[in-house]
Amino acid sequence: MPETGKRAGVPADWTYLPEPARIVSIRREAVDAVIELELADRSALGHKPGQFVQVSMFGFGEIPISICSSPTRTGRFKLCVRPAGHVSNALYRASEGDWVGIRGPFGRGFPIRTMRNRDVLAVAGGIGLAPLRSLIQYVRDNREAYGRLVVVYGARNPSLILFRTDVEAWTRGEDVEMFLTVDEADESWTGRTGVVTGPLKEIDLSTRSTVAAVVGPPVMFRFVAAELLAKGMNRRRIFFSLERRFECGIGKCGHCQLNGMYVCQDGPVFRYSDLEGFSEAVEARAPER
Ligand SMILES: Cc1cc2nc3c(=O)[nH]c(=O)nc-3n(C[C@H](O)[C@H](O)[C@H](O)COP(=O)(O)OP(=O)(O)OC[C@H]3O[C@@H](n4cnc5c(N)ncnc54)[C@H](O)[C@@H]3O)c2cc1C
Repeated sequence: MPETGKRAGVPADWTYLPEPARIVSIRREAVDAVIELELADRSALGHKPGQFVQVSMFGFGEIPISICSSPTRTGRFKLCVRPAGHVSNALYRASEGDWVGIRGPFGRGFPIRTMRNRDVLAVAGGIGLAPLRSLIQYVRDNREAYGRLVVVYGARNPSLILFRTDVEAWTRGEDVEMFLTVDEADESWTGRTGVVTGPLKEIDLSTRSTVAAVVGPPVMFRFVAAELLAKGMNRRRIFFSLERRFECGIGKCGHCQLNGMYVCQDGPVFRYSDLEGFSEAVEARAPER
């Protein structure tokens, strides 16, 4: 069964009915928009880190977007939207006070229970930081329940670093080990250069107690998995969040089917051991955005 948060137990038809939500604030960050939303009845969304919502922009359509804030924060929730096409551009251009429709939360999120009392390694590439931000906030807000929190984030260049304020706070914070890298430096850049596997090589992980959550372009998954396996990590403790094109978000339309699994319902977060052999899942190229 999908994790449906507070919606568990309501009639199945509910899942087709968007709930109105108001845009409380919208902030442009790098090439994305970070949108803060509040449901019309002001209730909490009831999500888990790694889940997504189906967002409808009236007159344009509906798209899946990951929730980038933790349920431990206020009743409001945040989405980070990169304009890729018809609906996402409309959402990117929206204004404070506008209304959107929300279905969800849907999908299986990160294994926060499996992670309890273990070290958490979050590896993000590009906009993959959005769903991982929810997990990072969650672990920080429940700090005593988790071991080390190691974050590795790679952006294409310094101007594309997302959630800059958070990244700076994590870098300063004593409860996070932050490794930031960019593929291509500019004159202003004094930090690490290269892809995320560079810092991964440096990090001394306790492989028996670490659970890894990886989100980024599919091409990144194969290299990160190879690096983590080389370090001795168990493939059952490596989790990837996949992105596929789909319509319904609840395992009905079939567009996101992957060898008998539905990315929307059985994922988007999968164990690496469940994906091995599906080269389509972990090696396909990311959509150009
Ligand atoms: C579980 C999940 C979580 C997501 N989280 C986020 C998020 O946090 N932030 C965010 O900005 N985006 C996220 N996305 C991607 C977002 O849903 C797509 O960018 C959006 O659906 C594009 O719709 P559109 O109408 O804007 O573009 P369209 O006009 O439909 O398409 C524009 C172009 O992009 C291609 N395209 C669009 N979506 C995909 C896709 N998923 N796979 C392959 N090609 C695609 C189309 O073929 C077309 O070439 C997520 C997707 C999934 C499945």
